[in-house]
Amino acid sequence: MHNAALHEVGLDGWRYQHLPLPPELFAEAVRALPAQGFAGINVTIPHKAAALAVADVATEPARAIGAANTLTFAEGDVHADNTDAPGLLAALGDEHPRTAVVLGAGGSARAVVYALARNGVAVKVWNRTAERARSLAGEFGAEAVQELPGADLLVNCTSVGLADPSSTFKDLPLRSDGLDEYACVVDLVYRAGGTGLLREAKRTGARTIDGIEVLVHQGALSFERWTGRAAPLEVMRRAARATASPHDDPRARPPVSTTRHADHGGGERGGGER
Ligand code: NAP
Repeated sequence: MHNAALHEVGLDGWRYQHLPLPPELFAEAVRALPAQGFAGINVTIPHKAAALAVADVATEPARAIGAANTLTFAEGDVHADNTDAPGLLAALGDEHPRTAVVLGAGGSARAVVYALARNGVAVKVWNRTAERARSLAGEFGAEAVQELPGADLLVNCTSVGLADPSSTFKDLPLRSDGLDEYACVVDLVYRAGGTGLLREAKRTGARTIDGIEVLVHQGALSFERWTGRAAPLEVMRRAARATASPHDDPRARPPVSTTRHADHGGGERGGGER
């Protein structure tokens, strides 16, 4: 998705690459990247909290969420941002929910609850481990719930449905015939074949937004931070949809840490990793 975007805007000397990093080398490696010509990096699990810690400057969303997914190297400093939160709002587009139910209390739920609550949405949080829902809700002015009420928006921020689409209505307190209580349903889980949750939600007439769409929007915002260019959204969307694998989640891959890199190639900066 990023390489397609770089090509589209004419930055052919740039390259976005995957760089697995063990946690113990993360901070040291990040500090060394600017000298090697890197403009910035995307960071995924398990490095998102460490990415915030290594930064010299951090945006308010990154600090509030306690995690960064985007680092940008500029004028000797490491800038941390979290584009997961605005990426979700961008994916919602014209949808302006007043009420939302968020499933999950992990890393992605933190970004989603923050983004929605910050925008004046009344958010209810459900999580399998109720204590984590209470703690997350308390932090961002949301409300933890044990039973799901109807709402304008439902966002699945659990990993349920990733490996087994049929687990949705077993592991989550949802009934397929109860989905008509939501006008819009977002599933952060990305599967090339779609998820059981979105398939059922579509049947009720709800607007559905899948995890790839949210991924594309957070990626577009990162792209703009690094390059200063408007992200070619449609090109990124097409590339992401063409390459997404059915289980494209770090937890479904071999056990290596996963950090992806956008670097300055083509002589714009000195250094290796080209
Ligand atoms: P995480 O921090 O590991 O949190 C996982 C969440 O899923 C926890 O709330 C956990 O509940 C819940 N969960 C796991 N298994 C469950 C089960 N069998 N039944 C009920 N709840 C279960 O993960 P994350 O980083 O938030 O990511 C969650 C999902 O979103 C992943 O599939 C990830 O790929 C996807 N994601 C997508 C995007 C995007 O841009 N589209 C961005 C980030 C993440 P407990 O607290 O009870 O363990």
